[in-house]
Amino acid sequence: MEKPKAVFFDMDGVLYDSMKNHVSTWVESFRKFGVNFPPEEAYMNEGRTGKGTISNAFRKYLNKEATETDIANVYNEKTRLMAKMPKPVIFPVMQKLLKELESRDIQCWVVTGSKQPTLLEKLKKDFGIIPYRIVSGHNVKKGKPDPEPYLIALNRSGFDKEECMVVENAPLGIRSAKCAGLYVIAVNTGILNDNILIDSGADELVHDSKELSERLLSNTSYDIGKNKS
Ligand code: CA
Repeated sequence: MEKPKAVFFDMDGVLYDSMKNHVSTWVESFRKFGVNFPPEEAYMNEGRTGKGTISNAFRKYLNKEATETDIANVYNEKTRLMAKMPKPVIFPVMQKLLKELESRDIQCWVVTGSKQPTLLEKLKKDFGIIPYRIVSGHNVKKGKPDPEPYLIALNRSGFDKEECMVVENAPLGIRSAKCAGLYVIAVNTGILNDNILIDSGADELVHDSKELSERLLSNTSYDIGKNKS
């Protein structure tokens, strides 16, 4: 692929430096309910539903099934703490990058598991992305790591999968995109080892938004031949 027709960006940890908030509120909420949840786990579970993350943690660290009450307790605490966190900042150069891609006739889309009520307004205001090009937690039944969210974006775009690429920061997001048959650039903005993102199937890896911008705006083609999942 010489240049893509569309780039599907994940949101948390790719456009916004928001994962730190999620990580610290997960760790703190779990701690209040007796679960010693390490920060790495928050990154490993990133993209899963709250319910899925809590169920997994109860199984792994308490050796028991979380009840509906357990799930509600931890999740409500997480929501309460999140409301008190500072507003996440946009990663350096990302606004400029999306603008530049659009000016080169490369469509920018967002594919996120988030269900934030102000998501559409925020992405319009910060990046000029229209609602049609946003697939959120409200549009999917399964969510990442299922390929569903990326397949929805692909179908809506009308492009072939060989014409689109994905930017993801999380193992489950990478798996979701690879299962949808898409080329993936991983941007490792978190604390996981690069290997974990590569082993999840990423075709390329960069370490921050500046490196990502250089890569996406370079004229080097993308080796879609590798893209066999
Ligand atoms: Ca993410």
